Amino acid sequence: MTTWCEQQQIEGVTCTKGFHQLAQVRQVSVYTYMTEGLVIDVGGSKIPQFRDVLKQQSPEAVLLTHHHEDHTGNSAWVEQHLQIPQYIHRSSVKDMTQKANNPLYRQQVWGTREAFTALPLSDTFTAKSIWDVIETPGHASDHVAFYNRSTGHLFAGDLFVAPKLKIMLEGESYSTLLHSLQNIQAIDYSGVFCHHAGFLTDARSLIDRKITYMQEFAEQVVRLHDRGMPTTQIVAELLPHTHVMEAVSDGEWSRHYLVNTIVQERDAIFMTV
Ligand SMILES: [Zn+2]
Repeated sequence: MTTWCEQQQIEGVTCTKGFHQLAQVRQVSVYTYMTEGLVIDVGGSKIPQFRDVLKQQSPEAVLLTHHHEDHTGNSAWVEQHLQIPQYIHRSSVKDMTQKANNPLYRQQVWGTREAFTALPLSDTFTAKSIWDVIETPGHASDHVAFYNRSTGHLFAGDLFVAPKLKIMLEGESYSTLLHSLQNIQAIDYSGVFCHHAGFLTDARSLIDRKITYMQEFAEQVVRLHDRGMPTTQIVAELLPHTHVMEAVSDGEWSRHYLVNTIVQERDAIFMTV
């Protein structure tokens, strides 16, 4: 198993990208960010280099964008070795006191998320600057983004990830994600740090493109569904290529789930916000 980290500075933010080379799905990666003495997300426990970085950075607090193990996997280590407060959405505080019960493939890819004590996030957070905690559910119900009012930086967790959505994780909500993306565009951010895509150059137009893609894709799905086409056929028509995660995840990630969710959430998707 090969893992490593690469680091770069962007606009005063230390960006640490951790990699895990896998036989089946080539490579996965996730970012942690450090600024103003805060670390935003701590990476997956399969990548030990994150712990070396955390030790060296010696942050004052950890802000967590959501509960997934690639973002919280080193939190138990932080608790044991750094003894600093770690904050997460209030709805996940209790869950964090239990070890995550994730499917085996996720444990193999990212490692387990051991139990740790988290504190509930408020609407704002004060470090050197004042930060807004912005609820951005969809990818996960406890998902938040962090907005630094002084620098205009937005730390977006898994809100963006990629310009197109071709597969979804069970439990994700298409309409909620779409509305979170639309809401974020109302913020006068200067730059967006994504936890999988890194610093987004021209974030505003990239996110606009994702919103447009999601709206147009949903229209296509609904049109075919209304013609009586079954989900399997819609998938074959619009998403013909099997995604590597489908086999690996034993269906937890799925194109069928994506299509079914669009059909189920159609009213909310086309609702004007
Ligand atoms: Zn996630």
